[in-house]
Amino acid sequence: MKLHLSLALLPAAVASVCAQPTPQSLADKESPSLLAIYKEIHSHPELSGHEQKTSAMVAKELRAAGCDVTQNFGKYENPNLKCYGVVGMMKNGEGPTVLVRTDMDALPVHEETGLSYASAVLTKNDEGKDVPVMHACGHDAHMAAFIGTARALQSLKSQWSGTIMFVAQPAEETGNGARALLKDGLYNRFGKPDYALGFHDKADLSTGHIGVTPGYTYANIDMVDVTVRGAGGHGAYPHTTKDPIVLSAEIINAWQTIASRENNPIDPLVVTVGSIHGGTKHNIIPDEVKMQLTVRTYKSDVRERALAAIDRIAKGCASAAGVPPDRMPIVTVIKDQFTPATYNNPDLTKRLVAVWKKTLGEANVDLVDPTMGGEDFAEYSLPDHSIPAVDFHIGAVDPEKIAQYKKEGKQLPSLHSSKFAPVPEPTIRVGMIGMTSAVLELMKK
Ligand SMILES: [Zn+2]
Ligand SMILES: [Zn+2]
Repeated sequence: MKLHLSLALLPAAVASVCAQPTPQSLADKESPSLLAIYKEIHSHPELSGHEQKTSAMVAKELRAAGCDVTQNFGKYENPNLKCYGVVGMMKNGEGPTVLVRTDMDALPVHEETGLSYASAVLTKNDEGKDVPVMHACGHDAHMAAFIGTARALQSLKSQWSGTIMFVAQPAEETGNGARALLKDGLYNRFGKPDYALGFHDKADLSTGHIGVTPGYTYANIDMVDVTVRGAGGHGAYPHTTKDPIVLSAEIINAWQTIASRENNPIDPLVVTVGSIHGGTKHNIIPDEVKMQLTVRTYKSDVRERALAAIDRIAKGCASAAGVPPDRMPIVTVIKDQFTPATYNNPDLTKRLVAVWKKTLGEANVDLVDPTMGGEDFAEYSLPDHSIPAVDFHIGAVDPEKIAQYKKEGKQLPSLHSSKFAPVPEPTIRVGMIGMTSAVLELMKK
């Protein structure tokens, strides 16, 4: 009653200021509709490179929010693949251009969340194998928040000027979606942005929170194929062979010295052998062993040295084992699967942190540690980071659940887990408010 009275007594001018929409009030208003969109996308996930229906839905929503929309944009290295990129331009007079990005693809994971809107989708992957599909990385929440952001910025047009480039990107999980859009002339056709902004849900961050890392936040990712070649023969007569299995074991151990002995300890570096295959039977020494590596770095000189060391050590060990020069290991860095490190421009990060603290409260903005994970959002910043960019985290987990798991010493379901289930409303809400307030800051009148 008291509150009612005091509101009634507010001068008209103040009351009209109060009635102005804000990112928060718009998030409240859009919440039911965005939740419905989220559930719809969650139940109908599509694999990387196959985002046909998802992209059509995002395009429809961007159009409804007042954007000039281009669909099926992008060119993959493989010209036979269709690219489902969506670009929505929202123009509002003179001013900077800000790129806002969401991803759209899901993963070949069998959902085990038990949710009423869980995915039961089965499809064929690119190899023709039947696979289940799940939005296990939260790209569905990103899309809902992205659509919410477009709606909010349309409603808030009196508060900003310039051009917003909404980019819904396919194939983030395979690391080639952003590159496909840039290769098709994203910046030639729609203009080079002054800033690029992206977000990703975080599987150990409380709902209502934004997390961000100034500087490097995600790593360079290189995929490396290695074939160690020897000379096979009978397992009982090793002296008549050059055993590629023993040689591979030596090479793998020697690679551990790249991070521990060749690299400056203050520069992050990971060399992981994720796959090794050789041989067919107990008593046969095979001709070759095949390995697949992931190599994670931040700085390009560290990356170049690590990749060179992998090659040098493999060949050096083979040579020491007496493998002839024409049977040296074949080391192939897969160029079109490279994902560059994501670098959050420190000045821009600082500016946005100040805005988020004002919008969400001091305690709800966390500076978080960088990770050796990867994100092709980095592509939008260009290799020289000349377009200032920030990719921030949005909290997706109930804080009580985080506390309970911590108490019990259990690991929360990570991104890509079949049990990963973000709490949708607050995850979408903080993504929408975080992105909308960031864009307003960069484009305010
Ligand atoms: Zn992912
Ligand atoms: Zn993801």
